Amino acid sequence: MAESDVKLEQLKQKSSPLKRSAWKPIVQEGDGALTASKFAGTPWLNASERWLLCPNCNKPMQFFLQLNLDELPGALKAKFGSGLLQLFYCTNYKPPCECDCQGWEPFSTIKVVRIVQPSNLNVKVEISQPNKSFPAKLIEAWEAVDDYPDYQTIENCEIAINEEESNTLVENHITVTGDKLGG
Ligand SMILES: [Zn+2]
Repeated sequence: MAESDVKLEQLKQKSSPLKRSAWKPIVQEGDGALTASKFAGTPWLNASERWLLCPNCNKPMQFFLQLNLDELPGALKAKFGSGLLQLFYCTNYKPPCECDCQGWEPFSTIKVVRIVQPSNLNVKVEISQPNKSFPAKLIEAWEAVDDYPDYQTIENCEIAINEEESNTLVENHITVTGDKLGG
């Protein structure tokens, strides 16, 4: 085993109490079924509802994410219940809804996080998407990975690592960044 691999294994061993399982979405361009896990595209909506409007600007919110909770990978299946988890968030900047309503706060009114139970799948719901909606990406699979915290979090958890170990951590990307589930 190369010296760098030995160092990496030692670092992993040292921070193993903080290791978590994570899953990275494998996506393909385009929308999928109404109940599929996806970024943007067409969400499942109840026959009695229309596209969700932002209470601050009264314009359609962006649809960010839908996760089919019954099709999540491994240990996450059923962990968050059953049905579809959906996230809508207003990205309009006239007025600047995110600033006006502190969109980053947990219960800000310019976003909706909800779990719906899909039914009446044959009913076609009128959908008027916002202008400039994000391109649809279907989540077709999940890749399981080991995820370790970054340098600061490891230190905060009172596991001392030196500069060399810190470099090893960064160079090997063992902190999973980008879109992920769990971790
Ligand atoms: Zn808005």
